[in-house]
Amino acid sequence: LTIRALRLHGHRDIRIEDVPEPDEDLGDRDVLLRSRRVGICGTDLHEYLDGPMLATTSPHPLTGACLPQILGHEFSADVLVVGHEVSSVKPGDRVAVMPLFFCGRCASCGRGRPQTCERLGAVGLNWAWGGMGELAVVAEHQVAVLPDEVTDVQGAMVEPAAVAIHSVTTAGVKVGDAVLVTGGGPIGQLVALAAIAAGAAAVYLSEPNPRRRVRAEGLGLTELLNPSELDVPAYLRKVCAGGVDVAIECAGNGHAAKACVEAIRTGGVMMQTGLHTRPAEVDLRSVTLRDVSIRGANCFEVTSWPRVIGLIASGAMPAERVVTSEVPLEDGVSSGFEALVDPQSDQIKVMLAISD
Ligand SMILES: [Zn+2]
Ligand SMILES: [Zn+2]
Repeated sequence: LTIRALRLHGHRDIRIEDVPEPDEDLGDRDVLLRSRRVGICGTDLHEYLDGPMLATTSPHPLTGACLPQILGHEFSADVLVVGHEVSSVKPGDRVAVMPLFFCGRCASCGRGRPQTCERLGAVGLNWAWGGMGELAVVAEHQVAVLPDEVTDVQGAMVEPAAVAIHSVTTAGVKVGDAVLVTGGGPIGQLVALAAIAAGAAAVYLSEPNPRRRVRAEGLGLTELLNPSELDVPAYLRKVCAGGVDVAIECAGNGHAAKACVEAIRTGGVMMQTGLHTRPAEVDLRSVTLRDVSIRGANCFEVTSWPRVIGLIASGAMPAERVVTSEVPLEDGVSSGFEALVDPQSDQIKVMLAISD
């Protein structure tokens, strides 16, 4: 028997096709899922356009997975079958998937930082299955039950919301802070929402694409800034009494990194969340002389799902607001991937509907 799945075969080669369905013989601690909603992530786009990069072209040391790879690491699903030893979920539960897997033995894992594991991998990138297939097998510790009031779309937003919350938490955003976020893509918009949830009094989003600024209008931010027309650091130093408390760089480019460092008040924090593809020039003299802290944050804490789900369920983090369209799996390449890579696109987060 087969399932429909969207698979990455190689550079600029993704196909929606029939693949063999998972073995009925489930591992004792495994869970068989039917995917419901799955988000297309910036990582998926990079794999498609510039990759494969994270998707393994030779067998992954922990899972043996390599191309062709079913994509999809941001998804909600129904539990269909559970292994003999599984006790935290049961058939019929709706869950959000925590996609990371890790070795548990390297120095990072030993320090309680599995998100920076030497052999880190993810469902939908280095795993036999992914959320863009109708069925998937994951491990028990990779699923968290969704309460009834959380929708399938919200469930699929838990993973990117977890990235945003890890970023804002690591940056140390405090009640009353003024925060600058650079880059209005899905992570930038979610980081802005997470900063509000953390109690920031003012959140500024800097984004040069006017269509993306329009998409951010409903998020309740203090001001949307256009860095092509405005000297963002000078402006923020003026309106925020010497600069913002925290600047979170989500654009992944050197201009934005420079703007963040310059927009921070003395003693403030710069958080680097966007992944840069080349080294950036930042004036480190200004970092020293002004007591600035620069921090980084990779992925999320793998144990954060219950907290993130709780935050979304409470309404404090309306992550679903960054979703701009929902398309069926069969249209996932044309209306999903191609729509997002179009430079004229006004799409932020596209959801693929896999099942209902
Ligand atoms: Zn992602
Ligand atoms: Zn490890």
